[in-house]
Amino acid sequence: IIHLSAVGKRFGANQVLANIDLDIHHSEVVCLIGPSGSGKSTLLRCMAFLEEYDDGEIHIEGRLLGWEIDDRGHRKHAGRNRLNQARRNLGIVFQQFNLWPHMTALGNVTEALVRVRRLKRSEAEKRAMAVLDKVGLAEKAKEYPARLSGGQQQRVAIARALAMEPKIMLFDEPTSALDPELVGEVLAVMKQLAVEGMTMVVVTHEMGFAAQVADSVVFLDQGSIVTRGTPNEVFRDTQHPRLRQFLQNYL
Ligand code: ATP
Ligand code: MG
Repeated sequence: IIHLSAVGKRFGANQVLANIDLDIHHSEVVCLIGPSGSGKSTLLRCMAFLEEYDDGEIHIEGRLLGWEIDDRGHRKHAGRNRLNQARRNLGIVFQQFNLWPHMTALGNVTEALVRVRRLKRSEAEKRAMAVLDKVGLAEKAKEYPARLSGGQQQRVAIARALAMEPKIMLFDEPTSALDPELVGEVLAVMKQLAVEGMTMVVVTHEMGFAAQVADSVVFLDQGSIVTRGTPNEVFRDTQHPRLRQFLQNYL
């Protein structure tokens, strides 16, 4: 469903991603792990074209993401419409929940359905209530973010993404901003999504989650994929010194 071939990304002279090949299949859960600065967020952002990749190609459902190739073989930006169409497939959840403080949980989930998807407000609210229920927050629908815990706010953010009915969910360290006792409730929602067959790419430091839920784990170091395999393969891998060193921090 997502296919990356030889993807590269530079910030100025800084080569942040190099030669990334990655295939993510339908209903697969892929966890991206790696040290700080290894390029995990950049890779995830490239998958949504929130960052423009410089080299290689990313295809989502067979369609080239973000770029068009002209007759002379040069890449130029794909039109707004095409990009938006590709992004319709994607739901994205960041470390910071970015809820609108002046709107209730329900309002936060409903807003894009009305503005972007052009649903009638009553329709949008019905769908929003269904996804809030799914993340266990139906009874908090009328609360404002300031009155919700971090874990609840993040679950609202997940509900907001799910309401758009994405085919793929991208998560960038969704639990890193949370107090430890609130991490579990967010991971539980994500696990449930995985069980239901959602295709997910998850940047995470939660090795327990990766071990339990991921179909495959990708270890990124200095902008390259060092190794990829099942959690068992990656977590027991003793061949790559950098991976071994990285995993030692989590024992
Ligand atoms: P962390 O675990 O700390 O979140 P990460 O693996 O997500 O790290 P990235 O945020 O992808 O790493 O950053 C990879 C590299 O790209 C870093 O060297 C970073 O300084 C650089 N970088 C990221 N975003 C930008 C930007 N907008 N402009 C310039 N350099 C950037
Ligand atoms: Mg990051």
